[in-house]
Amino acid sequence: MPTLSSPASNTGPQPALIDRFGRSIDYLRLSVTDRCDLRCNYCLPKGFNGYEVPANWLSFDEIERVVAAFARLGTRRLRLTGGEPLLRRNLPELATRLSALPGLEDISLSTNATQLRQQAQALKAAGVRRLNVSLDSLDAARVAAIAGRDVLASVLDGLEAAREAGFAPVKINMVVQNGVNADEIDAMIDYCRQRDFVLRLIELMPVGDTGRSAQFADVQPIVAALARRHGLQPGAQEIGGGPARYWRSPNSRFTLGVITPISQHFCASCNRVRLSVDGTLYMCLGQNEKFELRPLLRAGIDDASLEAAIREAIELKPERHEFREQPAKIIRFMSATGG
Ligand code: SAM
Repeated sequence: MPTLSSPASNTGPQPALIDRFGRSIDYLRLSVTDRCDLRCNYCLPKGFNGYEVPANWLSFDEIERVVAAFARLGTRRLRLTGGEPLLRRNLPELATRLSALPGLEDISLSTNATQLRQQAQALKAAGVRRLNVSLDSLDAARVAAIAGRDVLASVLDGLEAAREAGFAPVKINMVVQNGVNADEIDAMIDYCRQRDFVLRLIELMPVGDTGRSAQFADVQPIVAALARRHGLQPGAQEIGGGPARYWRSPNSRFTLGVITPISQHFCASCNRVRLSVDGTLYMCLGQNEKFELRPLLRAGIDDASLEAAIREAIELKPERHEFREQPAKIIRFMSATGG
Protein backbone atom coordinates (compact mmCIF):
# COMPACT_ATOMS: atom_id res chain seq x y z
CA MET A 1 0.00 0.00 0.00
CA PRO A 2 1.38 3.49 -0.75
CA THR A 3 2.40 5.95 1.90
CA LEU A 4 -0.66 8.05 2.57
CA SER A 5 0.89 11.26 3.78
CA SER A 6 4.19 13.01 3.68
CA PRO A 7 5.46 14.25 7.05
CA ALA A 8 5.71 17.80 5.74
CA SER A 9 2.06 18.02 4.78
CA ASN A 10 0.70 16.26 7.82
CA THR A 11 1.56 18.82 10.45
CA GLY A 12 0.09 22.18 11.39
CA PRO A 13 -3.31 23.64 10.53
CA GLN A 14 -5.18 22.17 7.57
CA PRO A 15 -4.80 24.40 4.49
CA ALA A 16 -8.09 24.95 2.72
CA LEU A 17 -8.45 24.69 -1.02
CA ILE A 18 -9.66 28.10 -2.19
CA ASP A 19 -10.41 28.69 -5.85
CA ARG A 20 -9.92 31.87 -7.92
CA PHE A 21 -13.38 33.07 -6.93
CA GLY A 22 -12.79 32.71 -3.20
CA ARG A 23 -14.82 29.53 -2.84
CA SER A 24 -13.62 26.96 -0.35
CA ILE A 25 -13.54 23.50 -1.92
CA ASP A 26 -14.13 20.99 0.86
CA TYR A 27 -16.32 18.42 -0.87
CA LEU A 28 -15.17 15.68 -3.25
CA ARG A 29 -17.48 13.53 -5.32
CA LEU A 30 -15.75 10.31 -6.21
CA SER A 31 -17.00 8.21 -9.11
CA VAL A 32 -15.96 4.63 -8.38
CA THR A 33 -17.27 3.37 -11.73
CA ASP A 34 -18.83 4.85 -14.85
CA ARG A 35 -20.89 1.68 -15.37
CA CYS A 36 -24.58 1.57 -14.62
CA ASP A 37 -27.24 -1.13 -14.70
CA LEU A 38 -29.90 1.42 -15.72
CA ARG A 39 -30.34 3.66 -18.74
CA CYS A 40 -32.34 6.57 -17.36
CA ASN A 41 -33.67 8.56 -20.28
CA TYR A 42 -31.95 11.79 -19.14
CA CYS A 43 -28.63 10.13 -18.29
CA LEU A 44 -27.38 7.23 -20.44
CA PRO A 45 -28.67 6.33 -23.93
CA LYS A 46 -30.32 2.97 -24.48
CA GLY A 47 -27.75 0.40 -25.56
CA PHE A 48 -24.84 2.55 -24.35
CA ASN A 49 -21.66 0.56 -23.87
CA GLY A 50 -18.87 3.10 -24.26
CA TYR A 51 -17.40 2.61 -20.84
CA GLU A 52 -13.89 3.31 -19.61
CA VAL A 53 -11.60 0.26 -19.90
CA PRO A 54 -10.71 -1.39 -16.56
CA ALA A 55 -6.99 -0.72 -17.05
CA ASN A 56 -7.80 2.97 -16.66
CA TRP A 57 -9.86 2.64 -13.49
CA LEU A 58 -8.12 4.01 -10.46
CA SER A 59 -7.31 1.16 -8.10
CA PHE A 60 -8.37 1.31 -4.46
CA ASP A 61 -4.77 2.24 -3.56
CA GLU A 62 -4.79 5.08 -6.07
CA ILE A 63 -8.19 6.33 -4.91
CA GLU A 64 -7.04 6.22 -1.31
CA ARG A 65 -3.96 8.28 -2.13
CA VAL A 66 -5.96 10.96 -3.91
CA VAL A 67 -8.67 11.16 -1.26
CA ALA A 68 -6.05 11.30 1.50
CA ALA A 69 -4.40 14.22 -0.30
CA PHE A 70 -7.73 16.02 -0.60
CA ALA A 71 -8.36 15.40 3.10
CA ARG A 72 -4.99 16.90 3.98
CA LEU A 73 -5.99 19.91 1.89
CA GLY A 74 -9.16 20.44 3.89
CA THR A 75 -11.75 18.21 2.22
CA ARG A 76 -14.20 17.12 4.88
CA ARG A 77 -16.96 15.47 2.89
CA LEU A 78 -16.79 12.69 0.34
CA ARG A 79 -19.59 11.24 -1.75
CA LEU A 80 -19.21 7.91 -3.52
CA THR A 81 -21.04 7.95 -6.80
CA GLY A 82 -20.89 6.79 -10.41
CA GLY A 83 -22.24 5.36 -12.72
CA GLU A 84 -23.77 3.04 -10.20
CA PRO A 85 -21.27 2.77 -7.34
CA LEU A 86 -22.64 -0.53 -6.04
CA LEU A 87 -21.39 -2.14 -9.26
CA ARG A 88 -17.77 -1.53 -8.22
CA ARG A 89 -16.59 -4.79 -6.71
CA ASN A 90 -15.74 -4.67 -2.99
CA LEU A 91 -17.09 -1.16 -2.51
CA PRO A 92 -17.50 -1.66 1.28
CA GLU A 93 -13.78 -2.44 1.48
CA LEU A 94 -12.99 0.87 -0.25
CA ALA A 95 -15.42 2.73 2.02
CA THR A 96 -13.76 1.19 5.08
CA ARG A 97 -10.35 2.38 3.88
CA LEU A 98 -11.58 5.87 3.10
CA SER A 99 -13.45 6.20 6.42
CA ALA A 100 -10.17 5.63 8.22
CA LEU A 101 -8.50 8.63 6.58
CA PRO A 102 -7.72 11.49 8.96
CA GLY A 103 -9.70 14.65 8.28
CA LEU A 104 -12.66 13.19 6.44
CA GLU A 105 -15.79 13.72 8.50
CA ASP A 106 -18.56 12.47 6.29
CA ILE A 107 -18.82 9.73 3.67
CA SER A 108 -22.06 9.46 1.77
CA LEU A 109 -23.23 7.45 -1.23
CA SER A 110 -25.51 8.05 -4.21
CA THR A 111 -27.13 4.92 -5.59
CA ASN A 112 -30.03 3.70 -7.68
CA ALA A 113 -30.59 1.08 -4.95
CA THR A 114 -31.10 -1.89 -7.27
CA GLN A 115 -28.38 -3.73 -5.30
CA LEU A 116 -28.83 -1.99 -1.97
CA ARG A 117 -30.57 -4.92 -0.25
CA GLN A 118 -27.37 -6.97 -0.61
CA GLN A 119 -24.99 -4.20 0.44
CA ALA A 120 -26.73 -1.84 2.90
CA GLN A 121 -25.45 -3.47 6.10
CA ALA A 122 -21.88 -3.77 4.84
CA LEU A 123 -21.84 -0.14 3.69
CA LYS A 124 -23.13 1.06 7.05
CA ALA A 125 -20.48 -1.01 8.83
CA ALA A 126 -17.88 0.46 6.45
CA GLY A 127 -18.63 3.98 7.68
CA VAL A 128 -20.97 5.31 4.98
CA ARG A 129 -23.17 7.70 6.93
CA ARG A 130 -25.75 8.95 4.49
CA LEU A 131 -27.50 7.68 1.39
CA ASN A 132 -29.08 9.43 -1.58
CA VAL A 133 -31.26 7.15 -3.65
CA SER A 134 -32.57 7.95 -7.12
CA LEU A 135 -36.26 7.26 -7.49
CA ASP A 136 -38.28 9.11 -10.11
CA SER A 137 -41.62 7.33 -9.81
CA LEU A 138 -43.61 4.86 -7.72
CA ASP A 139 -45.24 3.39 -10.80
CA ALA A 140 -43.45 0.26 -12.01
CA ALA A 141 -44.27 0.83 -15.67
CA ARG A 142 -43.04 4.42 -15.49
CA VAL A 143 -39.82 3.40 -13.77
CA ALA A 144 -39.28 0.82 -16.50
CA ALA A 145 -39.93 3.47 -19.16
CA ILE A 146 -37.57 6.01 -17.54
CA ALA A 147 -34.81 3.63 -16.42
CA GLY A 148 -35.04 1.04 -19.20
CA ARG A 149 -35.57 -1.82 -16.73
CA ASP A 150 -38.37 -3.01 -14.47
CA VAL A 151 -36.57 -2.36 -11.19
CA LEU A 152 -39.06 -0.58 -8.92
CA ALA A 153 -39.56 -3.58 -6.60
CA SER A 154 -35.83 -4.06 -6.03
CA VAL A 155 -35.31 -0.32 -5.48
CA LEU A 156 -38.10 -0.15 -2.87
CA ASP A 157 -36.70 -3.26 -1.21
CA GLY A 158 -33.26 -1.64 -1.21
CA LEU A 159 -34.74 1.40 0.49
CA GLU A 160 -36.26 -0.80 3.20
CA ALA A 161 -32.86 -2.42 3.65
CA ALA A 162 -31.33 1.03 4.10
CA ARG A 163 -33.82 1.79 6.86
CA GLU A 164 -33.16 -1.53 8.52
CA ALA A 165 -29.42 -0.85 8.40
CA GLY A 166 -30.02 2.44 10.23
CA PHE A 167 -29.27 4.98 7.50
CA ALA A 168 -30.82 8.33 8.37
CA PRO A 169 -31.57 10.58 6.70
CA VAL A 170 -32.17 8.77 3.44
CA LYS A 171 -32.69 11.30 0.68
CA ILE A 172 -34.71 10.42 -2.39
CA ASN A 173 -33.57 12.17 -5.56
CA MET A 174 -36.36 12.70 -8.07
CA VAL A 175 -35.47 14.27 -11.41
CA VAL A 176 -38.68 16.04 -12.38
CA GLN A 177 -39.75 15.79 -16.01
CA ASN A 178 -42.83 17.42 -17.49
CA GLY A 179 -45.23 14.90 -18.94
CA VAL A 180 -43.24 12.03 -17.40
CA ASN A 181 -43.41 12.17 -13.58
CA ALA A 182 -44.23 15.76 -12.57
CA ASP A 183 -47.77 14.62 -11.71
CA GLU A 184 -46.43 12.17 -9.11
CA ILE A 185 -44.84 14.54 -6.65
CA ASP A 186 -47.72 14.35 -4.16
CA ALA A 187 -47.53 10.56 -4.17
CA MET A 188 -43.77 10.76 -3.65
CA ILE A 189 -44.31 13.15 -0.73
CA ASP A 190 -46.70 10.66 0.90
CA TYR A 191 -44.29 7.78 0.38
CA CYS A 192 -41.36 9.74 1.85
CA ARG A 193 -43.35 11.24 4.71
CA GLN A 194 -44.40 7.77 5.87
CA ARG A 195 -40.79 6.58 5.97
CA ASP A 196 -38.99 9.70 7.21
CA PHE A 197 -37.22 10.03 3.88
CA VAL A 198 -36.26 13.47 2.59
CA LEU A 199 -37.60 14.06 -0.93
CA ARG A 200 -35.45 16.17 -3.24
CA LEU A 201 -36.79 17.54 -6.49
CA ILE A 202 -34.05 18.01 -9.06
CA GLU A 203 -34.12 20.06 -12.25
CA LEU A 204 -32.93 18.33 -15.34
CA MET A 205 -29.55 19.49 -16.65
CA PRO A 206 -28.63 19.51 -20.37
CA VAL A 207 -25.74 17.10 -19.85
CA GLY A 208 -25.12 14.89 -22.88
CA ASP A 209 -27.66 14.36 -25.68
CA THR A 210 -29.81 12.48 -23.19
CA GLY A 211 -30.04 15.39 -20.74
CA ARG A 212 -30.92 17.74 -23.59
CA SER A 213 -33.62 15.56 -25.08
CA ALA A 214 -35.50 14.87 -21.82
CA GLN A 215 -38.45 17.00 -20.65
CA PHE A 216 -37.24 19.91 -18.51
CA ALA A 217 -39.52 21.15 -15.73
CA ASP A 218 -38.93 24.41 -13.86
CA VAL A 219 -39.16 23.18 -10.30
CA GLN A 220 -39.68 26.56 -8.63
CA PRO A 221 -43.37 27.11 -9.49
CA ILE A 222 -43.99 23.45 -8.66
CA VAL A 223 -42.49 23.96 -5.21
CA ALA A 224 -44.42 27.18 -4.62
CA ALA A 225 -47.67 25.27 -5.28
CA LEU A 226 -46.54 22.35 -3.08
CA ALA A 227 -45.64 24.74 -0.27
CA ARG A 228 -49.14 26.24 -0.37
CA ARG A 229 -50.82 22.85 -0.54
CA HIS A 230 -48.78 21.18 2.20
CA GLY A 231 -48.09 24.25 4.38
CA LEU A 232 -44.33 23.91 3.84
CA GLN A 233 -42.03 26.57 5.28
CA PRO A 234 -38.50 27.40 4.09
CA GLY A 235 -36.08 25.69 6.47
CA ALA A 236 -32.86 27.25 7.70
CA GLN A 237 -30.99 24.07 8.45
CA GLU A 238 -28.59 22.76 5.86
CA ILE A 239 -28.45 18.98 5.44
CA GLY A 240 -25.23 17.59 4.05
CA GLY A 241 -23.55 20.69 2.66
CA GLY A 242 -25.04 20.45 -0.83
CA PRO A 243 -26.90 22.88 -3.07
CA ALA A 244 -30.43 21.90 -2.01
CA ARG A 245 -32.73 24.41 -0.37
CA TYR A 246 -35.06 22.80 2.12
CA TRP A 247 -38.70 23.22 3.05
CA ARG A 248 -40.37 21.69 6.09
CA SER A 249 -43.86 20.70 7.07
CA PRO A 250 -45.33 22.62 10.06
CA ASN A 251 -44.65 19.72 12.45
CA SER A 252 -41.15 19.26 10.92
CA ARG A 253 -42.02 15.63 10.14
CA PHE A 254 -41.40 16.04 6.44
CA THR A 255 -38.57 17.77 4.56
CA LEU A 256 -38.57 18.68 0.89
CA GLY A 257 -35.32 19.58 -0.83
CA VAL A 258 -35.17 21.57 -4.04
CA ILE A 259 -32.19 21.59 -6.41
CA THR A 260 -32.48 24.15 -9.19
CA PRO A 261 -29.26 24.21 -11.22
CA ILE A 262 -31.10 25.85 -14.12
CA SER A 263 -33.83 28.15 -12.82
CA GLN A 264 -31.73 29.43 -9.88
CA HIS A 265 -28.17 28.24 -10.03
CA PHE A 266 -25.95 28.03 -6.95
CA CYS A 267 -22.50 28.30 -8.52
CA ALA A 268 -21.42 31.15 -6.21
CA SER A 269 -21.44 28.72 -3.30
CA CYS A 270 -20.11 25.69 -5.18
CA ASN A 271 -17.82 23.77 -2.83
CA ARG A 272 -17.00 20.67 -4.85
CA VAL A 273 -15.00 18.97 -7.57
CA ARG A 274 -15.46 15.53 -9.08
CA LEU A 275 -12.96 12.71 -9.52
CA SER A 276 -13.96 10.27 -12.25
CA VAL A 277 -13.09 6.58 -12.26
CA ASP A 278 -10.18 7.18 -14.68
CA GLY A 279 -8.60 9.76 -12.40
CA THR A 280 -9.80 12.90 -14.16
CA LEU A 281 -10.71 15.78 -11.89
CA TYR A 282 -13.69 17.65 -13.32
CA MET A 283 -14.03 21.15 -12.04
CA CYS A 284 -17.67 21.71 -12.92
CA LEU A 285 -20.52 19.51 -14.10
CA GLY A 286 -21.38 22.10 -16.74
CA GLN A 287 -17.91 22.99 -18.04
CA ASN A 288 -15.03 21.14 -19.64
CA GLU A 289 -12.10 22.16 -17.41
CA LYS A 290 -10.35 19.07 -16.13
CA PHE A 291 -7.06 17.83 -14.76
CA GLU A 292 -5.65 14.34 -15.27
CA LEU A 293 -4.30 12.76 -12.09
CA ARG A 294 -3.89 9.16 -13.32
CA PRO A 295 -0.70 9.74 -15.33
CA LEU A 296 0.86 11.46 -12.32
CA LEU A 297 -0.17 8.67 -9.96
CA ARG A 298 1.19 6.01 -12.29
CA ALA A 299 4.43 7.91 -12.76
CA GLY A 300 5.04 7.67 -9.00
CA ILE A 301 4.26 11.24 -7.91
CA ASP A 302 5.07 11.90 -4.24
CA ASP A 303 2.49 13.19 -1.78
CA ALA A 304 3.68 16.79 -1.69
CA SER A 305 3.61 16.98 -5.51
CA LEU A 306 0.18 15.36 -5.58
CA GLU A 307 -1.12 18.06 -3.24
CA ALA A 308 0.48 20.71 -5.47
CA ALA A 309 -1.21 19.16 -8.52
CA ILE A 310 -4.58 19.29 -6.79
CA ARG A 311 -4.03 22.96 -5.93
CA GLU A 312 -3.13 23.61 -9.56
CA ALA A 313 -6.30 21.83 -10.67
CA ILE A 314 -8.47 23.92 -8.36
CA GLU A 315 -7.14 27.04 -10.11
CA LEU A 316 -8.99 25.81 -13.21
CA LYS A 317 -12.39 25.80 -11.55
CA PRO A 318 -14.66 28.06 -13.60
CA GLU A 319 -16.93 30.65 -12.07
CA ARG A 320 -20.16 28.97 -13.13
CA HIS A 321 -21.82 26.63 -15.55
CA GLU A 322 -23.47 27.90 -18.74
CA PHE A 323 -26.31 25.44 -19.05
CA ARG A 324 -28.67 28.22 -20.11
CA GLU A 325 -26.33 30.13 -22.41
CA GLN A 326 -24.65 27.09 -23.97
CA PRO A 327 -26.91 24.09 -23.42
CA ALA A 328 -25.08 22.00 -26.03
CA LYS A 329 -21.66 22.43 -24.44
CA ILE A 330 -21.36 19.28 -22.33
CA ILE A 331 -21.26 16.19 -24.50
CA ARG A 332 -20.07 13.74 -21.83
CA PHE A 333 -22.80 11.86 -20.00
CA MET A 334 -23.42 12.41 -16.32
CA SER A 335 -22.15 8.91 -15.52
CA ALA A 336 -18.75 9.75 -17.05
CA THR A 337 -18.24 12.77 -14.79
CA GLY A 338 -19.79 11.20 -11.72
CA GLY A 339 -23.23 12.44 -10.79
N1 SAM B 1 -26.29 5.71 -9.95
C1 SAM B 1 -26.37 6.62 -8.83
C2 SAM B 1 -27.76 7.15 -8.69
O1 SAM B 1 -28.66 6.70 -9.38
O2 SAM B 1 -27.97 8.01 -7.84
C3 SAM B 1 -25.35 7.75 -8.87
C4 SAM B 1 -25.04 8.40 -10.18
S1 SAM B 1 -26.39 9.29 -10.90
C5 SAM B 1 -25.62 9.94 -12.35
C6 SAM B 1 -26.51 10.68 -9.79
C7 SAM B 1 -27.73 11.53 -9.92
O3 SAM B 1 -27.65 12.25 -11.14
C8 SAM B 1 -29.05 10.79 -9.95
O4 SAM B 1 -29.91 11.31 -8.96
C9 SAM B 1 -29.59 11.08 -11.33
O5 SAM B 1 -30.97 11.13 -11.32
C10 SAM B 1 -28.96 12.42 -11.62
N2 SAM B 1 -28.90 12.79 -13.03
C11 SAM B 1 -28.40 12.09 -14.06
N3 SAM B 1 -28.51 12.77 -15.22
C12 SAM B 1 -29.07 13.96 -14.90
C13 SAM B 1 -29.45 15.11 -15.64
N4 SAM B 1 -29.27 15.19 -16.97
N5 SAM B 1 -29.98 16.16 -14.99
C14 SAM B 1 -30.18 16.10 -13.65
N6 SAM B 1 -29.85 15.05 -12.88
C15 SAM B 1 -29.31 13.98 -13.50
